[in-house]
Amino acid sequence: MKLRHTRVKDLLNSTNTLHEVNAKGWVRTFRNNQFIALNDGSTINNIQCVVDFENTAEETLKRITTGAAVSVTGDLVESKGAGQKFEIKVRKLEILGDSDAEKFPMQPKKHSLEFLRENAHLRVRTNAFGAIMRVRSVLSFAVHNYFQQKGFVYVNTPIITGADAEGAGEMFQVTSLPLDNLPKNEEGKIDYKKDFFGQHTNLTVSGQLEGETFAMALGQIYTFGPTFRAENSNTSRHLAEFWMIEPEVAFNNLDDNMDLAEDFIQYVIKYAMDKCGDDLKFLEGRLLEEEKSKPQAERSEMALLEKLNFVLENNFKRVSYTEAIDILRDSTPNKKKKFQYLINEWGADLQSEHERYLVEKHFKSPVILFDYPANIKAFYMRLNEDGKTVRAMDILFPGIGEIVGGSQREERFDVLVEKMKALGIDEEELWWYLDTRRFGSAVHSGFGLGFERLVLFVTGMTNIRDVIPFPRTPQNAAF
Ligand code: ATP
Ligand code: MG
Ligand code: MG
Ligand code: MG
Repeated sequence: MKLRHTRVKDLLNSTNTLHEVNAKGWVRTFRNNQFIALNDGSTINNIQCVVDFENTAEETLKRITTGAAVSVTGDLVESKGAGQKFEIKVRKLEILGDSDAEKFPMQPKKHSLEFLRENAHLRVRTNAFGAIMRVRSVLSFAVHNYFQQKGFVYVNTPIITGADAEGAGEMFQVTSLPLDNLPKNEEGKIDYKKDFFGQHTNLTVSGQLEGETFAMALGQIYTFGPTFRAENSNTSRHLAEFWMIEPEVAFNNLDDNMDLAEDFIQYVIKYAMDKCGDDLKFLEGRLLEEEKSKPQAERSEMALLEKLNFVLENNFKRVSYTEAIDILRDSTPNKKKKFQYLINEWGADLQSEHERYLVEKHFKSPVILFDYPANIKAFYMRLNEDGKTVRAMDILFPGIGEIVGGSQREERFDVLVEKMKALGIDEEELWWYLDTRRFGSAVHSGFGLGFERLVLFVTGMTNIRDVIPFPRTPQNAAF
């Protein structure tokens, strides 16, 4: 199909002036009855279109309002205005779709993020959300690029699954039956074990268990798909529907897993910085504006691009859980009450304020915490020789907290089965998972990275609802 119009990005990047070009897009502003700032989504930058107002009908000029879709045809000429190399000297202007300026909610003024969230379908027309969504798109391509270049096989694990060993209490149930006609057990209660054509199913919370079975045949695989958690927590880091990247590699131990995670994260950030320079610069400027309204002590020490560069140029700090507890114990804040309980309690899960202290105050760097107490981690993680810690890792990022959770998996059949028994996990339900340990079991490891948390970090946004097109949260389930 031949595209008759040229994308604004290409026009602005042109090496020379051009006779007779056509651009289509949406009006951002219209000044002095003459200058249209036109945006078509290809770039954060608008192209200035200079309207020949003397020869344009009054009626048409009135219809050039913010949000209107227009087509402009004319010459690409050098611009005298500051900040842009080219502009379009318009010969022919067509209004493709009117926009009632009184009613259009996205007038160019600073809207609150809350207001914009209520207009998820229109917020993408603002500079900030256009930039965020382009960065998101480039990052997702970078994810595939990284793994494909390294010879990983992309695997689509099921969205509907019976495996719920890990997601107790956090899973959305799937039913194939009318809600008022669900199968009942002898006591007359709904029998969820049979609600999906006679079986029980959920929306997936992670593709890991299925992914492991593929890694034990294809060697190195990754999944990248939607994941669902019935989170009723309303934090700025949790969504009910989010996208997760889960590589799984046979013959890799936990150290290899850490190397992979670090290399991967650095690659995708670098990729986004190379491809999305204008968008990231815009987002950085927006953040700097925001910082100005904060008290000095709360302002972040680094601007966005500096922060991203820091992650590229510095190794993540690798610290065992036990070392982390010691650091927290010795730290000044542990004298405060909220840190107190850690002093006597090796084995407790870290709270987000502990994680933030380690990352933002103590190390001032991303941190990989490893070798967690077995009792706070999932059943499938490799037990260490000490018998009380497992080969688990969490990667913690400044301003984000946990961005990755991963582990070396328990490859020993007997140890795994014993652990499942102790936790009351049904061996029969996971017969297929146990087969990987029955037939040719080997050391393997992998991790899950929440894609939106990565996008949060790269864009500098602070609420996860602002980096996914249509956020699914308890307040926002349907739109
Ligand atoms: P958290 O401690 O933040 O609740 P988790 O330990 O429950 O995360 P994992 O099961 O380890 O999460 O999942 C792997 C990764 O998926 C996490 O490190 C995080 O990046 C991401 N993630 C988990 N839950 C959510 C969610 N509800 N919304 C967005 N991302 C999530
Ligand atoms: Mg969680
Ligand atoms: Mg966690
Ligand atoms: Mg985790």
